[in-house]
Amino acid sequence: MALDMKTLPIERKPLHVPPLDEIAEVLNNGLKQHFQEVQVEVVDCPNLTQMPFTLANGGLNGNTHLMDVGGPPYLIPLVQYDKVYNLCDIPELMKMKSAFIIGAGAGPHPYAKTNCECIMNINIENGVVDQQTRIVKVKDRTPLQEQLPTTETRFALLGNLFICEGKPGKVLQVHVKKRIGTEDFIGSIRTVLADHYGSKILGLGGTFLLKEGKANQHVMPNFVKTPINSEEEINQWLEFFEMSAPLIANGTLVTGDYDLDLRVQHFHSFSHHGEGGHYHIDTTPETVEYLGYFNTAQDIYRVDKPVHTHNVGRD
Ligand SMILES: [Zn+2]
Repeated sequence: MALDMKTLPIERKPLHVPPLDEIAEVLNNGLKQHFQEVQVEVVDCPNLTQMPFTLANGGLNGNTHLMDVGGPPYLIPLVQYDKVYNLCDIPELMKMKSAFIIGAGAGPHPYAKTNCECIMNINIENGVVDQQTRIVKVKDRTPLQEQLPTTETRFALLGNLFICEGKPGKVLQVHVKKRIGTEDFIGSIRTVLADHYGSKILGLGGTFLLKEGKANQHVMPNFVKTPINSEEEINQWLEFFEMSAPLIANGTLVTGDYDLDLRVQHFHSFSHHGEGGHYHIDTTPETVEYLGYFNTAQDIYRVDKPVHTHNVGRD
């Protein structure tokens, strides 16, 4: 059972879409404050179905959108069990014959029998599903990653999605080494773009590889019965792990909020060695290396925005 997405409140806002060459130049200059080695180029997207990315489709082009579904208010202070959504609703909702969807959110608790992280990675083409989405749950203080079956296309509570047709084409390739700033990889990109573009709001989606180093990541444990009311309480509840490269992280970022109560950045990673979770920041700034592929989204869809909101749990 899942909520029917087309019956939920939806708002849409256009995003500012500067040429990729311009964004590459802005990032090449700005990221030097954050990383010692910076190379940002506009390239033909490599085939992302190949190792190490193993995404459900090869490219990040064609009908690009961001979607922000639900939000932390459905998780805390107490979980709302009915907030379950289906990725298979998205093609019809967006009037797309095929949709390649990657992103970060909460996994389908009715399937997992527990709260869990979700790393969305799915291609839906004329109703045919290629499901490469992983979930990560925590058991006895150990994160456990598993791939969802084709028949399980739901997620819960919140999701930050990049949606496109998966077509080949030009993308931003962001390659950086050795972190010298205090912000994480995505936060660094977001800050540089926000500083440059100001009130013009951009949205990017895509995937990045933590090629070298380790990262601090959390995995949500099962729901609690006592309300969580502060950032401190949520950090006591979440389980944090230091996870090792190579990690593949999918998600979105936006440089502004549009008063839509948006999650401004959200990336979840999976791996081929069993680790996965919500990316916070690398713990090895001296040796860290990131390689990311991103594209701009034309607009953002805000689906099922919580009526009563708060600022807890946005990190
Ligand atoms: Zn997350």
